[in-house]
Amino acid sequence: MYKKHNFGAGPCILPSSVMEQAAQSVINWNGMGLSILEVSHRSPEFEDVVLKTQLLVRGLLSVPDHYSVLFLQGGASTQFAMVPMNFLAAGKKASYLDTGYFAQKAIKEAKLFGDVEVVASSKDRNYAYIPGQFNIDPQSAYIHYTSNNTIEGTEIFDFSATGVPVICDMSSDIFSRKIDVSNFDLIYAGAQKNMGPAGMTLVIAKNEFLDRAKKEIPSMMDYQVFRDNMSMYNTPPVFSIYVAMLNLLWLKDQGGVSGIEQKNIEKAKLLYAEIDRNPLFYGTAEVEHRSRMNVTFLAVNKDAETQFLAFAANMGIVGIRGYRTVGGFRASLYNALPLSSVEVLVNAMVDFERIYS
Ligand code: PMP
Repeated sequence: MYKKHNFGAGPCILPSSVMEQAAQSVINWNGMGLSILEVSHRSPEFEDVVLKTQLLVRGLLSVPDHYSVLFLQGGASTQFAMVPMNFLAAGKKASYLDTGYFAQKAIKEAKLFGDVEVVASSKDRNYAYIPGQFNIDPQSAYIHYTSNNTIEGTEIFDFSATGVPVICDMSSDIFSRKIDVSNFDLIYAGAQKNMGPAGMTLVIAKNEFLDRAKKEIPSMMDYQVFRDNMSMYNTPPVFSIYVAMLNLLWLKDQGGVSGIEQKNIEKAKLLYAEIDRNPLFYGTAEVEHRSRMNVTFLAVNKDAETQFLAFAANMGIVGIRGYRTVGGFRASLYNALPLSSVEVLVNAMVDFERIYS
C-alpha cells in the first residue's frame, strides 16, 4: 500500500494532489528551470505566492479589510511569548482560559511579562471539558483562548462576547470550520495541521489592535514590523508558504471552509458513534465539547489498547496513539483525511470487537 491512513496530530496528512504538485515544484517550479527551494524570496514570482496565499486566507475566512494577514515563524509556541510581549505591559494583567496542555504553555510564557489571571480551568477533570462560566476583569489587556485542544480532544464552539480584546490559538482547527474573524482581535495558528507543512505561523489581527502594541520590541517579535514588510522583514519560510498556497487552493475546490466543515462533521460523527457503540472503547471528552479534529478515546483495559494498536497498524492505520497525559488513542481528522480512512478505522474497531476476548 502506498498511502497509509494517517491520523497523525501534526504534521499531518495533506491532500495527495498538493504533495504531487509540491514535489514537482521542488524539481522545476512552473517550468522556470528552477526549484521552488532555490528562488529568491524577493523575486516577483515568490512575492506573487505570498500575495496569493494572503488573498486565499482572506477569501476562505472572510477576513475583514481592517485586519492584517501575516506569515511568521517559530510555530505557535513563539506566539505564546509574542502575544504578551506585544500586548501585556509590566504591572498589567492578561486573562487566560486554561483548557489544557497548550493553554498552560501560553500561560507560562505570559507570566514572564505581566500578571496572569486564569479565569477558569478544566484541570479538575483532566481537561475533558471547556469551562462555561467565568468572569473577565474589564481591565485585562486581553483574554486568551485555545479554540481546539489538540491533546485533550475538546473544542470551543461558543465564543461569547467578553468586553476585552480576544486572542485565540487556532492551531488545530483553523480552516476546519466557519469562524467570524470579527469576534477576535488576534488569531494565530501553526501551519502544520490544516494549512500546510510546518514552518510558517499564520497571524490574523485587527489593525487597530496591532497599533496598540508596545514599541520597544525586538524586530522579529514585533507584529508591526511584519505588517509593514508584507511578512518579509527577513527570509520567510518559502516552501511552507508555497505549499500552504497549494493547500488553500485545494480547500477552495472543496467548497471552501463551509464545504469542508460539513465533511468534518460527518467524519467526526461516524467515529464518535462507533466509540459510543463499541463496548471496548469509550471517549474521554465530555460529549458537548468533543473536538471534530482530534478524537480522543480509551480502550477498556491496557491489553485491549495494546492489541488494538497492533491490529489497526496491520490495516495501514497510523498516528492513533494518544498523547501520554491522556493515553489511549487520538485520531486526528484534519481536512485532508478522507471519510474512507475514518471508515477503515471504524471497521477495524468493529472487527476488533469480534475477535477480542
Ligand atoms: N497550540 C496548539 C493548539 C497546538 O496543537 C500546537 C502544536 N500541536 C501548538 C500550540 C504548538 O505549536 P508549534 O509546534 O507550532 O509551536
